[in-house]
Amino acid sequence: MARSAVYTGHRTVHGQSNPQGIIDDFNKFADGNSVAADICVIGAGAAGITIAREFLGTQLKVVVLEGGGLDPEPDSQELFESEVIGLPHAGVHDGRARILGGTTSLWGGQALRFDTFDFEERSWVPYSGWPISREALDSYYERAERILHLGAQLPFERLCASFGIEPPAFGTAKLCMECSR
Ligand SMILES: Cc1cc2nc3c(=O)[nH]c(=O)nc-3n(C[C@H](O)[C@H](O)[C@H](O)COP(=O)(O)OP(=O)(O)OC[C@H]3O[C@@H](n4cnc5c(N)ncnc54)[C@H](O)[C@@H]3O)c2cc1C
Repeated sequence: MARSAVYTGHRTVHGQSNPQGIIDDFNKFADGNSVAADICVIGAGAAGITIAREFLGTQLKVVVLEGGGLDPEPDSQELFESEVIGLPHAGVHDGRARILGGTTSLWGGQALRFDTFDFEERSWVPYSGWPISREALDSYYERAERILHLGAQLPFERLCASFGIEPPAFGTAKLCMECSR
């Protein structure tokens, strides 16, 4: 099973200046080898890589430990095999990828903010309702969208116009339409 390490920041473990970082396979490390870093991030999925990138250009040395390899590896992926009790749900093992990049290796690349509605309690949805509002996340959404280079949010009507089609004749009070990026 491969263990990749991505080092970001000012220096690599070998002490050479390398602002881009390096990737190593821990399987190839000699016994007793160790890695020292200021910050250790576990998992090189969208979340882990984004957090690690925040430290680029700083003096801090960051190590990201990823349980998967550069390519899919059945032995590593097997660790996500789970027993599902209750309703069938294949996503717990098939919808998560153990590989550098994590589940972004499977995703559709669609980016869409949650709606205000998603945070509200709905009597017909058990355990619904979040202790925070959508607005509390807005500044984080803006930051994440900048990282993803998503550009400006396009109103649905403008998207239709850009394709030369009429928007569906639903009232916005009844149907809320938003474009993902
Ligand atoms: C088919 C599909 C399509 C999708 N489409 C979209 C989409 O269009 N838009 C969207 O927003 N989202 C989409 N998603 C969801 C999205 O891909 C995930 O929400 C997102 O990638 C999760 O990122 P993450 O970093 O939190 O976790 P992950 O991507 O799961 O990354 C976690 C990483 O940590 C590693 N890891 C776990 N445990 C350890 C450990 N103990 N030690 C070392 N490493 C470890 C794993 O190997 C993995 O690489 C889709 C998902 C699927 C399955």
